[in-house]
Amino acid sequence: MPADILQPITGSPWFQLTTRLCFLFAVIVWLALIFWTYRDADRRGSLAIYWAAVVFFFNFAGWIVYLIVRPPEYEEDARERELEIKTKEALLARSDLVCPACLKPVKDDFLICPYCQKKLKKSCPNCSKPLNMSWVVCPFCKTSL
Ligand SMILES: [Zn+2]
Ligand SMILES: [Zn+2]
Repeated sequence: MPADILQPITGSPWFQLTTRLCFLFAVIVWLALIFWTYRDADRRGSLAIYWAAVVFFFNFAGWIVYLIVRPPEYEEDARERELEIKTKEALLARSDLVCPACLKPVKDDFLICPYCQKKLKKSCPNCSKPLNMSWVVCPFCKTSL
């Protein structure tokens, strides 16, 4: 009975066109999801082909599973962070001078530690060169301190 009532609607060309468009739209979304998953998984260092296949077969369900289990960050971000840490380590290893208070690397001519603001050197009142705190005369201009 309900089928009979709906017949004029379901049988109309407009309805059929709308259904077809909806179906076409769903297919486009599905293909876009596969493409997106492939690219995203690739960027995150996952098995891109495998995840694209999962979305291909399981559609939205597969996509949601991928969203849950995918690696939390892009592979290039992880690589960048690793590189940053390595650079910092290299910097630390290269500079033999460290702040006595916070042990962060400082340069020989720093007057103050840029990290913890501990006073490292004083500057000569005459020539402004950085001097050790314990010096009593400036070795550059012979000014008594
Ligand atoms: Zn410091
Ligand atoms: Zn001086």
